Amino acid sequence: VERTLALIKPDAVNKAIDIETVILNQGFTILQKRRVILTAEQCSDFYSEHYGKKFFPSLVAFMTSAPLVAMVLAKENAIQQWRELIGPTNSDVAKETNPDSIRALFGTNEQKNAVHGSDSAVSAEREIRFFFPNCIVE
Ligand code: ATP
Repeated sequence: VERTLALIKPDAVNKAIDIETVILNQGFTILQKRRVILTAEQCSDFYSEHYGKKFFPSLVAFMTSAPLVAMVLAKENAIQQWRELIGPTNSDVAKETNPDSIRALFGTNEQKNAVHGSDSAVSAEREIRFFFPNCIVE
């Protein structure tokens, strides 16, 4: 069983119950869950790989605008399974190509895309520790 970090982003926090229902129906276990408001500094650290990109300031403003929900999800092959369930980054694209995906169902555009998922084992470990520093990652 593998673990991954999922975020319900500020644009979708009011739909968190519906998103959690999809998560559980798809066979994930929610091991940890926390509602959190990020500071700009914390958010810049979380998204440091995007520092310097054109959309970075707007991404940080969006992600710090309201609470988000951070969750540790567990399932066999959780990292890839969660990335597949959320769909492509841009919710407009997701609506065309993956209409059943979470980003199609709950997101709006290329920035307001409802959820995040770790993209590798290394980022999953880093991101789980970022939001749940006391969590034991095997
Ligand atoms: P995430 O890391 O959130 O799961 P991702 O890996 O699919 O998403 P990244 O390319 O890592 O996408 O971008 C991180 C986040 O930055 C996206 O989820 C989105 O909210 C925002 N973003 C990405 N590209 C753009 C863009 N061109 N314009 C505005 N926002 C963007």
